[in-house]
Amino acid sequence: KEKAYSCLIRTAVPGGRVSAEQFLAELDLCDRLGNGSLRITTRQGFQLHGVLKSNLKETIRTINQIKLSTFAACGDVSRNVMCCPAPFKNNPVREQMQTLAQEIAVHFRPRSTSYYELWLTDDEGNKQDVADFQPVAEPIYGERYLPRKFKFGVAEPADNCIDVYTQDVGLLAIVEENEVIGYNVIVGGGMGNTPSADKTFPRLGDEVTFATPDQVIAVCGAIVKVQRDFGNREDRKRARLKYLLHDWGVAKFKSQVEAYYGAPLPEPKHAPVTGVDDHVGWHVQGDGKLFLGVNIENGRIVDVGDVRIKSGLRAILQRYGMPTRLTPLQSVILCDIDPADRRGVEALLGEYGLKSADELSLARRFAVACPALPTCGLAITESERVMPQLIDQIEPVLAQHGLEKSQISIRMTGCPNGCARPYVADIGLVGKSVGKYTIYLGGNPQGTRIGFVYQDATPLEEIPAQLSPLLASYQAEKSGDEAFGDYCARLGRETLLAKVGRAEAA
Ligand code: SF4
Repeated sequence: KEKAYSCLIRTAVPGGRVSAEQFLAELDLCDRLGNGSLRITTRQGFQLHGVLKSNLKETIRTINQIKLSTFAACGDVSRNVMCCPAPFKNNPVREQMQTLAQEIAVHFRPRSTSYYELWLTDDEGNKQDVADFQPVAEPIYGERYLPRKFKFGVAEPADNCIDVYTQDVGLLAIVEENEVIGYNVIVGGGMGNTPSADKTFPRLGDEVTFATPDQVIAVCGAIVKVQRDFGNREDRKRARLKYLLHDWGVAKFKSQVEAYYGAPLPEPKHAPVTGVDDHVGWHVQGDGKLFLGVNIENGRIVDVGDVRIKSGLRAILQRYGMPTRLTPLQSVILCDIDPADRRGVEALLGEYGLKSADELSLARRFAVACPALPTCGLAITESERVMPQLIDQIEPVLAQHGLEKSQISIRMTGCPNGCARPYVADIGLVGKSVGKYTIYLGGNPQGTRIGFVYQDATPLEEIPAQLSPLLASYQAEKSGDEAFGDYCARLGRETLLAKVGRAEAA
């Protein structure tokens, strides 16, 4: 008798755009065929956990019936394309970025029909749910796909909520007079590493070139093909595009991309990232409507006690039917809200125990944790299941030092793979061994710097006490509006250790 395997099913949602009907259908699926919870991922997708192997086909077919897909949500191809989800309508910039994200998702979707043949056929092999799927030649991936997974993301300098420098290809919109005139193409970011192997490391992408809106997909195509043809296929630990950038340097990489593109490429524009937004709370959309960002702690949509996130979102979506967007910080934006409905939406949020932006600390709003145990096979430590209690303990420490209004990002992962992008946070907590974490400091809220290892193998219960003297010294010595991560980066590990009376440990 076959074991009762349970699986994770990830839905790719380019730019995080989900209709009310699609959201409600995913909620129904998690109740009917999953473990009763639905998860918003750190890449703006959905994950269903606990789906029995015998229910895979029905689950995947249902997802396709609602015009979403699990196709290329995993694998050595372009995965879910991230994009800033803010639905501002008062200028076309965000919609232009969203449109590009959708175009990239379509352009880099594999042409293989095997997905449809496997999952979208009935028991007799008859096609279901798709009008047609004829085999076509694979124009991008060839016969071997890519050496490793490949991640695109689209951002703009004032709001780097997608962490554009951590993507294989990050596209940073250059805006003039409320129009996107093109994108800085940032190549070779990636978080995963194996601490025991020095040849692996988290890396920020390099600004390689600038591409106009009508060139950008072709430039991305050339980059993907360079990785396809020159990426490391011998050593999977060194297979991501970031290692090609590291080994070759920008000049050699760029000239190879130019050869594939067929023309010289310009220098990138000067466009420093200046901010990051979690999009939580009420916002004027710009077209007479409002949007509301609702924080979902660690992306887990579930009913627990009086906090009935799943039932609350279901009630709101059933009553108002608004489109939604999933955010890179694992939360949800309810879009297109008529101002006359604001009080009704707020009443439902209160009825189901969902907290408003004002009721949440900034530490909790900007915290991100990966799923880790018990659903991720790579997890070494807990992450999602312990993060709420850890934030419970860190909040009073922040308050004790007068930092409750400071935007300090804390991100946790259950292994060094770094799915919650911990290495660019002010405070990164990375699972090291059972119950112990490596503390990284010195990233920043804008996601433009990788932190350094402050302390290895720290027991979970000691983390608040380890951070407390650092936060005290930050409060006493910060320069102007210097962020915590900037302060840590300015001082460096040894100075920080000396400040907390542990110079000998340096
Ligand atoms: Fe990703 Fe590691 Fe977390 Fe699993 S445990 S979700 S691989 S970071």
